Parts: sequence; structure tokens; C-alpha cells
Amino acid sequence: MTNLRTEEFFADRMLGRLTRWLRMMGYSIEYAPSDWDDDKIIEYCISSNLFLLTRDWELSNRYSYSMYVQSENIDGQLAQFLSRFPPSRELFFTRCPVCNGKTSRLPMNLVADRVPDGVRTRFDSAFVCPNCGKIYWEGTHYVSILKTINSIITRLEDHFVH
Ligand SMILES: [Zn+2]
Repeated sequence: MTNLRTEEFFADRMLGRLTRWLRMMGYSIEYAPSDWDDDKIIEYCISSNLFLLTRDWELSNRYSYSMYVQSENIDGQLAQFLSRFPPSRELFFTRCPVCNGKTSRLPMNLVADRVPDGVRTRFDSAFVCPNCGKIYWEGTHYVSILKTINSIITRLEDHFVH
């Protein structure tokens, strides 16, 4: 399996939660602005060569480079997506879940004035999004997200092995 990921994605308004989860796993996912209609979405996906993720069956039928996301719940959505586009662990936390920007890991002393005291003393580095300015660190929230992602992947691997 190669670690080079070439696809970039676009998600419709029904998939906000999936969008945030996949960004945390390093996938590039653009999210549909609220005032875009189907025509605009298709036009944009074509011109930017984006793979469309949609809960709208008709929309997915109008654009072949797409996936109709079947499940209403996040577990089912992740399972369907990850079985087609397997994750690379080394890409986890390389994207900002809020804006899709590419985060970079910086030494804590470079961001020290932008994080709470407790964070500054407990962690050596942080992930910074150059696009929206958000800063992430490997605290309890990070650990619990990583646990959830790993358990989803393990469940999927079990599913495909048996
Ligand atoms: Zn950001």
C-alpha cells in the first residue's frame, strides 16, 4: 500500500461530521458552502477534479467520480469510505478539521504565547494550521480521537479479514 494519497474530496452539507473526521485522518475534504446547489457542486468538482461524497443519490448519479454515502450514522459512513480509500496512519492529524488546511508540527516554544499555561509545560510540540490559525496538541482530546480512529480501523480490518 502506498502512502501517497492523490485523491481530493468534496462533501455535501449532509456530511459535516464525516468531513471533520476524515480531515483528522489526513484526507483533503472540501465542504459545500450552504448556498451551493447541485449544479454548482458538480461544476466545481469537475473543474477541481474532486471526488464527491454525497448522501444524495440523484446527485451521485449525475457525477460519476463520486460515492453515494449510504449510512446516516458516522460509523457506517466511515466504514464505507475507509474500505474504498484506506487510511495511512502517518497522515493522521496532518489536516485541520475546521478548515482543511495542512497543519505542521511546531516546537512548543514557537507557539507558547498562543496556548494555555498547562499545555505549554506539558507538551513539546503542537500542530498549527497556517490557514485558520488554530492550534492542536496531543492532549486528552487528541488521545481519545486517536483511540476512536484506531478502533474503527481495527473493526474494519477484522471485517475484511474474516
Ligand atoms: Zn484550520
